[in-house]
Amino acid sequence: MASSFPSRFVDQKTGTIEKFQTMRERVTGEFLPEAGHVGILAVKLAVLAPFVGGLVVAAPVVAVAWFGARWGAAKVIDLVHEKLLLEHKKGDFIEFDFTKADDVAAFSARYGDRHAQFAQDYAAMTKLAGLPQPPKVFIIDQFFKKGGTSKLGGLVSDFMAGTTSRPNGKDPVIMLGKGALNELTAGELRAVVAHEMTHLNLQHPAKGVRWQGRMPVNALINVALVGAALLGPLPLLPVLGFVAVTNVAGRALKAIQSRHHEKLCDRGAALITGGTGDLTTALEKIKHSMLKMQRIETEYAYRSKGLEPPEQKEAGAVKRFFVATHPANEVRSSLLQQFEKKYPAWCEKQRGYFSNAFNKAAARPDGGNAAPLPANANTRGANRWQLAA
Ligand SMILES: [Zn+2]
Repeated sequence: MASSFPSRFVDQKTGTIEKFQTMRERVTGEFLPEAGHVGILAVKLAVLAPFVGGLVVAAPVVAVAWFGARWGAAKVIDLVHEKLLLEHKKGDFIEFDFTKADDVAAFSARYGDRHAQFAQDYAAMTKLAGLPQPPKVFIIDQFFKKGGTSKLGGLVSDFMAGTTSRPNGKDPVIMLGKGALNELTAGELRAVVAHEMTHLNLQHPAKGVRWQGRMPVNALINVALVGAALLGPLPLLPVLGFVAVTNVAGRALKAIQSRHHEKLCDRGAALITGGTGDLTTALEKIKHSMLKMQRIETEYAYRSKGLEPPEQKEAGAVKRFFVATHPANEVRSSLLQQFEKKYPAWCEKQRGYFSNAFNKAAARPDGGNAAPLPANANTRGANRWQLAA
C-alpha cells in the first residue's frame, strides 16, 4: 500500500494512531471468506474423490483446473478491459485523462458548470488515495436506450459509479454515469470517487480475479458430483442438495467479502475527503436512481411482452445476507456517522483541505479551470460547494 494513503492516521482528540484496517477486519473480511470458499471446494472434492479414482487422481486434475481457470479468468477479464479501453470511446462513454490539459479543458467545457473543480480535486484525491497515476475517467454519456438499459446492459447505467482495472491492477478506470454528474454535488461526487479510488488502492478489482478463477473449478466439481450420482455410486437427491447448499454458501461468502470491501472503501472516502455526510446523501441519491431505473427496465420488459409488471419490493434481510454485494445504506450511513463522531477533527481537516483548494483555484484569474466557462459558473460552483460541505 502506498504510504500517502492514510492507512494510519492520528485521532486528534486522543492522539492515538488509528489503522485504516485492523488485523481483525483483515482476518474476518478477507482471509476467512476466502479460506471458507477454498474449504468448501476442498470438502466437495473430498466427497467426489473416491468415485473418480481417489484423491491422488482428483487432486492433480483439480489443481490443474484451478490454475488454468484462474489464468483463463484473468485473460477474459483482461480482454474485457481491453475492449472497454479501446472500443467504446465514442459511443458509450467519454474518456477523460486528467493528466492531459486538453481533457481537463474538455471536461470543464462539458461539466464545469456543476463540477468546476473536479479535475483539480481528482488530482488531489489521486495523491491522497496513494494511487501512482490518476485513473482515467469514463463518463457514461448515454442515457437509457429504448429498452431501458444502456448498450452495455445492466452493468453500466446512467447512474453508475464504479471502477475496474486489468487483473494485474494496471490501467485503472473510474466510471461515472452522466446522471451521477448531474445529480451529485461537488462534495458528493468527491466522496463517491474517493470510495472508488480506495477500491483501486486496495486492489479489489485484481482480487476479484482470484474468486472468479475458482468459479469454473466449482462448476467442474459440481458436474462431476452430479455425474457420479447419475452414473451410480452417489445418491442423486442428497448430491443435488449438497451442490445447492455449497453453492449458496459460496455465494454468501463472496457477498460477505464484498460488503466488507464496501465498508472499507466508505471509510477510505471519509479519510480522503472527510465527506461522511456527502457520501451518505450520494448513496441515497444513487439508490433512488438505481431503483427507478430498475423499475423502468422491469416495466419495459413486462409491457413489451404484453404483461402487467409486478409490484417491486426491496430484498428482505435474509436474502440480502446471501446475495447483497453492498451493505444497506442505513448500515453505511451509520458507520459513516460513527466515523465522523470518532474523528471530527480529521474530517474537518480533510473537508477544509478541499475547500481551501477550491477557494484558491477560484481566486486565480482563470478560475482554476483551463477551459473557458460560462461567466457565472464559478460562483454557482462556490454556492454549491458551501451547500455540499
Ligand atoms: Zn464500492
